[in-house]
Amino acid sequence: MNAADILKLYKNSENDALIAAADEVCRNVYGSKVYLRGLIEFSNICNIDCLYCGIRKSNKEVKRYRLSEDEIIDTVSSGTKYGFKTFVLQGGEDPYFTTPVLCGLVEKIKKINPEAAVTLSAGIRSCESYRLLKEAGCDRYLLRFETSDPELHKYLRNGVTLNERLKALDNLRKYDYEVGSGFMVGLPGETEETRIQNALLCRDYNFDMVGIGPFIPHPSTPLADALQMPLELAIRSVALVRLFLPEANIPATTAAGSLSSAGRERMLAAGANVLMPNITPVKYKKDYELYPGKICLDESGFECAGCLEGRVLSVNKFITYERGDSAGFLHGKSAVS
Ligand code: SAH
Repeated sequence: MNAADILKLYKNSENDALIAAADEVCRNVYGSKVYLRGLIEFSNICNIDCLYCGIRKSNKEVKRYRLSEDEIIDTVSSGTKYGFKTFVLQGGEDPYFTTPVLCGLVEKIKKINPEAAVTLSAGIRSCESYRLLKEAGCDRYLLRFETSDPELHKYLRNGVTLNERLKALDNLRKYDYEVGSGFMVGLPGETEETRIQNALLCRDYNFDMVGIGPFIPHPSTPLADALQMPLELAIRSVALVRLFLPEANIPATTAAGSLSSAGRERMLAAGANVLMPNITPVKYKKDYELYPGKICLDESGFECAGCLEGRVLSVNKFITYERGDSAGFLHGKSAVS
């Protein structure tokens, strides 16, 4: 389908037709496979003040934590025993995690599990930092652009511009990362046109991974009184992005599962092919509260992986423990070499 056909399907047809088309495209590339990523929320200390985020700097109600290096390494070791082949380290913008500290961590993880991919999600960093982290063995980087509307972006990110975010994404490309981005759906001030532009931006940047989640207002943020928009909008965005980027890895996000009990299954049926069980040590999980109602706070991510098996089967897919690089990224590599 060309872009005009995709947009026509998005704008003019029943949801079912859009979702069925996205599901078909996803299965043509990834079959019925769902890749698993072990998510480690390594710190909720954050130097910045995004209006939407529960762990923003100004939220004084957060009990702040930072995992020690030993805790991170122990979590990776447990994950390795369990069979995980991707570890995603996500955190607030915590100044303790300087480039040398993060590089040291990446190197240690790679020693424990040389086969595994290491993904970082640690905000905008300097070009040099991205270069050194890649050299240390980091494979992938996640940095959502959050919204493609430049005005809205600047407002929601407390003055940080969309251009700065996009520049960082360009820098990640330079150093040959598998680059992930994405956006929230249902932000106050967003329109249907914003959501279309979000998807087009993903296509233009040809992201290897795209995370899309519903925005869920957090009571201790300036957006506490924002309306909760229906999950449907995020599901439709997943389908639209899948049609634009057949080879991207697209997670069924935790936020979708938090807003609605079958939210992740609905994303998996609409073109998503990745799940990210949260393997952060249980005692810290509740304090990484980006939004209220986050699921699976009392169980370990390994228990979650068990529960996910059944959920995935309900949409005729199955979990695989392969490393699961994005098909587009692998094609690019073979074209270069
Ligand atoms: N500091 C890192 C990681 C941020 S947290 C960074 O800025 O990239 C990871 C993601 O959670 C964010 O990119 C955002 O899209 C999402 N998020 C934050 N607050 C949210 C909320 N209230 N509802 C839904 N998703 C939220």
